[in-house]
Amino acid sequence: MISISKNPCLTCGACCAFFRVSFYWAEAGEDGTGVPVALTGRLSTHRAFMLGTNASNPRCVALKGEIGQEVHCAIHPQRASVCRDFAASWQDGQHQAGCDQARAKYGLLPLEPHHWQPNNPFNLPTLPKAA
Ligand code: SF4
Ligand code: SF4
Repeated sequence: MISISKNPCLTCGACCAFFRVSFYWAEAGEDGTGVPVALTGRLSTHRAFMLGTNASNPRCVALKGEIGQEVHCAIHPQRASVCRDFAASWQDGQHQAGCDQARAKYGLLPLEPHHWQPNNPFNLPTLPKAA
């Protein structure tokens, strides 16, 4: 993991309010290690989703804060695999179109490789927003 002064995802949150967040139902459970069942719904026999994301204007119920300013996931240690696996653009050296698309919905410019450079004083609200 690249060390930076501030992870850009903490001043974004757009992907948590852009996609339907669905996952294998057994990732939710009441033992304190999985996604809290109370925050999920069922899509089908085998698929569950985060409440708030199966909507035309999705926003996960676990997303706290203001998108594009300061956000956090209220269940971060227990989030589903789909959340763990979603990569921010250039975080691992790869462009991620889904990250760009989600950010664009909220008027946020795409991340660029230099945003992940060590000691980059990244502070998203100071970046210009897309027109
Ligand atoms: S569970 Fe957390 S990481 Fe996953 S969509 Fe919701 S707020 Fe985002
Ligand atoms: S849209 Fe991209 S930058 Fe924003 S929180 Fe999701 S992964 Fe991070």
